[in-house]
Amino acid sequence: MRVHILPSTVQGTPGHGLTGFVVDGVLALDAGPLGQFGTCAEQARIKDVLLTHAHLDHIAGLPMYLDNIYGLAEVPPTVHALRPTIDALQTHLFNDRLWPDFIGLSRAMAPFVALKEVEPNRPFPCGNYTAIAIPLDHSIPTAGYLLDDGRSAFALITDTAPVPEIFQKLGRWPRLSAVFLECSFPGRMKALAEASQHLTTDQFAEAVKLFPPGVSVYATHIKPAHYAETVAEIRALGLSNVQIGEPGRIVELSPQ
Ligand SMILES: [Zn+2]
Ligand SMILES: [Zn+2]
Repeated sequence: MRVHILPSTVQGTPGHGLTGFVVDGVLALDAGPLGQFGTCAEQARIKDVLLTHAHLDHIAGLPMYLDNIYGLAEVPPTVHALRPTIDALQTHLFNDRLWPDFIGLSRAMAPFVALKEVEPNRPFPCGNYTAIAIPLDHSIPTAGYLLDDGRSAFALITDTAPVPEIFQKLGRWPRLSAVFLECSFPGRMKALAEASQHLTTDQFAEAVKLFPPGVSVYATHIKPAHYAETVAEIRALGLSNVQIGEPGRIVELSPQ
């Protein structure tokens, strides 16, 4: 699998102000910068969008993405999310106030989007992949995702407070080769990390130790304002299987 860590800005400035990944050009995990990704034709190749939660940094690009590809894609994309995330999209975003109600319009004319509720911990087919939503511990209902194509697997774990049992369980997945794990704040900002249910570099380091040593861990969701400090702290950990998931980077996962 080929995992593109989307940059938050066109210039690709450091930090993950917006979160989004594109897998093999056909599947998106979160949609923060998705409306600014590539060309409209490239956006139209994306068939499935898996959302972790409804916070804006993960969905901001969804309205523009759906607008950009309307009429270009043969089949409208499917957005997969927890029920509370779907409800939030309908109530607060696609409500004919902030944005046209693409969900309602999809019932009345050629559809913009299909919505599919995901159930935590229950594998579901998604294109050529099997996906599993992994419940996390955040201020609103949130799910990370494991994605497996039968040759390799990776997980996106953001946004969350420490969930050691879940990290351990995930580490037992047979083909797991990489985890994109949030590391929002430097160590000195522990109070804010706890209040907002995110990880500091110290908590990130504890989490990394719960994965098998052969699993590569990419730090993501690093706040732009503290990017240099957070990256320096992660590098100082000296953990050989940890890398920075730099915005714009493409990670190739080798078969396990
Ligand atoms: Zn969040
Ligand atoms: Zn976030």
